[in-house]
Order: sequence, then C-alpha cells, then structure tokens
Amino acid sequence: MNDNNNLQFRGTYIKREDFDGGKVLSVEERPVFEYQWSTGIAISRYFKGLKEGKLIGSECGKCGRKVIPPRIFCEWCFAPMQRFIELQDTGTIITFSICYIATDASRLKEPQIPAVIAIDGTTNDEMGILHLVSEVDPNEVKIGMRVKAVWKKESERTGAITDIKYFKPLK
Ligand SMILES: [Zn+2]
Repeated sequence: MNDNNNLQFRGTYIKREDFDGGKVLSVEERPVFEYQWSTGIAISRYFKGLKEGKLIGSECGKCGRKVIPPRIFCEWCFAPMQRFIELQDTGTIITFSICYIATDASRLKEPQIPAVIAIDGTTNDEMGILHLVSEVDPNEVKIGMRVKAVWKKESERTGAITDIKYFKPLK
C-alpha cells in the first residue's frame, strides 16, 4: 500500500501526448450533435405555467383524477385528460430527507431538505412533486407539514421547476 494512502490503479494512463501523437485514434472533443427535443403538449404547458408563476396539472375526463405534472392521458383508465387545471402552490409534505451532503459529495453546514410534496387539489394518492423545503428548522420538518411555494421573481423565471426556489412552511 502506498504511504499516503492514495489509491493506485493498475493500467496505463493516457497522456495528452498520446492524443496529440495519434496513439489514441478516435477522439471527438466537440459535442457531436446539438439537439433539442419537444417536451410534449402537457409538459410544455407545465413549464409555461411555471414561468407564469402557476402550477398546472391536468384532469382526467373519465375518472376525474387530477395530476401534477400534467399528462395528456390518464394511465389509470387510458382516457384522454379533459383539461388543464391551475392548482394552488400549496401542499403537504409526504416524505422528506435531511441532507448534509451536496450533489458533488461535499459536506454542507446547512442541510438541504428535499421533500415530496402533494400539491393541493390533486387526487389524494398522487405522488406529488420533488422539491426543496427551506425557511424551517430541520428538526421541525414533519410528514404532513403544510408548505407553500416561494417563487423566483417573474423576471428571473425561465419556465423550469427551479422557478420555484423552494417550499416554506405555511403559516
Ligand atoms: Zn382516468
């Protein structure tokens, strides 16, 4: 074992000179394709709603189920969704986690609190949306806690779920 505990991997490292000297035959350092794709009718409407500061869902024309994010057909009864619906930006925490490790694996002094939030007005057994909870003592977060979205300013919204900064406890 190495004195300084660095991991030593077997094999041969590829060096810059190997690329420049042609020892590595196929290298593409530019993106090969630039591409876009359609998010579809329902998710496009969802993103447009977020930019407007609204949560948009859809309602099934057959069973009446109300879902967020919206889709164009109901996967329970395979009927087309009847309409888009504007939902309130409030909901209930149905599960959460308190994370002291960031997505880059660095330690966080102030934890992030990702939570699944059942949005008011959707059908009861809907999963809800995943977002962050903030403006709360992590020890106070509970399943069943009522929360409300905190939106970015209109000029900063881009039509993404991050147009909501986080959810905070509903007082
Ligand atoms: Zn249905």
